Order: sequence, then structure tokens, then C-alpha cells
Amino acid sequence: MISNPTASSCEAYSSSVEGAPRQRVAILGCTGSIGAQALDVCRQHADRLQVVALSAHSRTEELVRAAREFTVPIVAVTDPAHAEDSCLSELPEGTKLLVGESALEELAVLPEADTVLVSVVGAVGLRASYAVLKAGKRLALANKESLVVGGDLLMPLAQPGQLLPVDSEHSAIFQCLLGERAEEIHCIWLTCSGGPFFGRNREELEGVTRAQALAHPTWNMGAKITIDSATLMNKGFERIEAAQLFGLPMERIPVLIQRESRVHSMVEYVDGAVIAHLGASDMRLPIQYALSYPERWETPAERIDFRTIGSLTFDAPDPEAFRCLALAEEAGRTGGTAPCVLNAANEVAVAAFLAESCSFTAIDACVAHCLEHHDARRVESLEQLHDIDRWARAEASRFLAGLS
Ligand code: NDP
Ligand code: MG
Repeated sequence: MISNPTASSCEAYSSSVEGAPRQRVAILGCTGSIGAQALDVCRQHADRLQVVALSAHSRTEELVRAAREFTVPIVAVTDPAHAEDSCLSELPEGTKLLVGESALEELAVLPEADTVLVSVVGAVGLRASYAVLKAGKRLALANKESLVVGGDLLMPLAQPGQLLPVDSEHSAIFQCLLGERAEEIHCIWLTCSGGPFFGRNREELEGVTRAQALAHPTWNMGAKITIDSATLMNKGFERIEAAQLFGLPMERIPVLIQRESRVHSMVEYVDGAVIAHLGASDMRLPIQYALSYPERWETPAERIDFRTIGSLTFDAPDPEAFRCLALAEEAGRTGGTAPCVLNAANEVAVAAFLAESCSFTAIDACVAHCLEHHDARRVESLEQLHDIDRWARAEASRFLAGLS
């Protein structure tokens, strides 16, 4: 688990003292929702943060624009199909270009970077997260799939203050734990917006469309996590992520629907005191905190006037309608390689739903099928997880093909 850090090895380059060296940041997945917001944080704190490396998968024009704005010395295009895009000739003179999936790991260990923000989507982020920790750099981790799939490998590597969660709930929990004793935690209330289909029963979920599922009520995110938020698989992943980060069993991490997304999670202590983290629904806050920790810098977002927000509501989730929540609980309790299968099957099914080649409820059916056909084992290595991931993707594709 993340020990409760009071001092961190990263303090040296997060100082705001005039003339202090800037923290050198690599952003993996700079063209995504998190990546773009991270660039905005770097823009607003240019005196403290220096962008030294960027990766994109397919959106090379955005990559080039960012590389030019921040005069970035090293960039990577991970999809080889985009390695020859003509816009790449517009990269700043002297900028080095890496190509292919393995470029993520190369960026992860760059001597020029102090901190690596892993904000690519999917299990593809795991190897990079692992490499960042191995290299002793600060890991600002948005890619929750890394922890879901490979938390058993990552957590033993993380030194105090080295792994900073970017996921808003986990950043909130991390902050609610500061200065407290881990053995005095009663439970962690993991909050959840409920997504666009809150309150619907199973039948009402059957025919929901791609467009309806992409219309998230409070957060503006990449397509994959938006679908995960609609199925509540995202919350299931986040329970596993919290269990890994904070060392609590799943049953002590209940999910709490908080429709307004103002309370970003809460920690309840043995004496009944509950410490909540509140703030704007703006991912730049947790991104910035992962870079500024242990300091706090001026907010990039609008402040909330609590006199104007009215009521905050709390509800229980419905795991019968939203089966992904129950499936993630099952995989999390089983542990070992089960969450790897959970994630891989979900990635395949969500991609199929986004391509409009399966229904919304086929997503959980597909995940359930793959979990049923897997005998979970202890996690041993990245290679073992890679093999199981490949098996689960093939099994998920077979299952979905059988439905159509
Ligand atoms: P996006 O889909 O918006 O962005 C994904 C990024 O990953 C893009 O830069 C994309 O490149 C890159 N990418 C896609 N496929 C690959 C691949 N195979 N190899 C390498 N890079 C790839 O996602 P988000 O920014 O929304 O989410 C990123 C991560 O952060 C996810 O793990 C998500 O769960 C997590 N997260 C996101 C939150 C949010 O508010 N968005 C909140 C909390 C966590 P390109 O665009 O160039 O193709
Ligand atoms: Mg979250």
C-alpha cells in the first residue's frame, strides 16, 4: 500500500523557491483528455514544470502542436501506422522521434525526466508504469488499468511519495489520509456519479445507444472511460485500484453514489470521524496535485461557491442492473490474474460497443463469460500477464462474434 508520506524523495524538484530547477515531466498519452489537461497545468505553471517528452498514438497533429509550444526534445508515436504522417516534419528542429509501442517504455526511463505521467488508455500502460517505478522516478498515474491488471507487481516497487494517483477519487483519498494512521481507517467511501443511466433497471439498459452512453452528466473524458462510467465498470476498477493503493480489502471500500460529483471520496476512521475531499469536477486539480505534491499550487480551475450549490445527494449503487460492478468485485476478491481478464475482456467489449457491433449489456455478458473460463493464478510477471491478456482478448472476441 501507499504508506502515508510526510516527506518525499521528489521534494527537491517540486520547490517553488525562485531559481530552483523545474520539475521535468514526460506525458505518455498527451493527446488524450488527461494528457491535454496535463499540458494545460504545465502551461499554467511553466515556472515550475518543464515538458521534456510526449507520446501520442494516432493524433500526430496534436502531438506536433504540443511539441512546438513546449519545445519538447523527445516525442513518440506509438501507432506505427502514423509514423510517416506528413505533419511530423513540422516537429521542432532537433526533436527526436521514437516509434512503436515500446517507445512508451523508452520514455518511461528517460534520464531527462523526473516525473512521468502515464495517461495512455488501457492495459498497454502497465509496462510503462512498471518501468517508471523501477527507474525510481515519480509516477503520476492516471492509467488505472495499470493497477487493476498489475497492481501486485507495481505496489511492491513504489517508495513513499513515488506513486501519485491522478484518478480523482484516489487523489482525494490520498489527501484524506495525509497525517493519519492507516490502522485507524474504518473504511473508504468511494464516490461515483452514477453515470448517465443512474436509476435504470436491467431492461431499461438493454437498448441504450452509443450516443446516450457517451453523454456523461458531470465529467468530460475519453470515450473508453466514459463507457466504463456508464456501465459502472469504471467504479469496479476503482475499487480494485483503491484496494491496491491503500491496502484495504474490497468490502471496506463501499461505493457511494454522489450525483453532483462534488465529494470526490471520503475516509471514515475508527472513531466515526469522516474526512471528505470536495472540490470542482476538474481533472486538472488531481493532475496538478500529482505534480505539486507535497506542495499545493494555485488552482487552475474555478473555485466553488458552496453557498450556491444547494444540496448534495448520496445513494447506494444497484449492482443487479449494473453487473460490471459485481463482476469487478468478484475479480477483485479472487485477485491474482482475475482482474487482468476482467480488464482485457472489458477493453474488447467496450471497443465493440463503441463500434456499434454489440449491445450495452453484451459488455458485462462478455466479461462474465471470460471470467468464468479463467482459473486465476498468482501474478508472477509482466510476461505472464501479457499472455493472459491475449487469451482473454481472443476469448472475448470469440464470445462477441457468437452473439452476432
Ligand atoms: P483518451 O482516450 O482521451 O486518451 C488516450 C490517450 O492514450 C491518447 O493520448 C491516445 O493517443 C493514447 N493511446 C490510445 N491507445 C494507445 C495505445 N495502444 N498505445 C499508446 N497510447 C495509446 O483517454 P483519457 O485521457 O480519458 O484516459 C486516459 C487514462 O486515464 C485512462 O486509463 C483512464 O481510465 C484514466 N483516467 C481518465 C480520466 C478522465 O477524466 N479522462 C479520469 C481518471 C482516470 P491518440 O489520441 O494520439 O490516439
Ligand atoms: Mg475516477
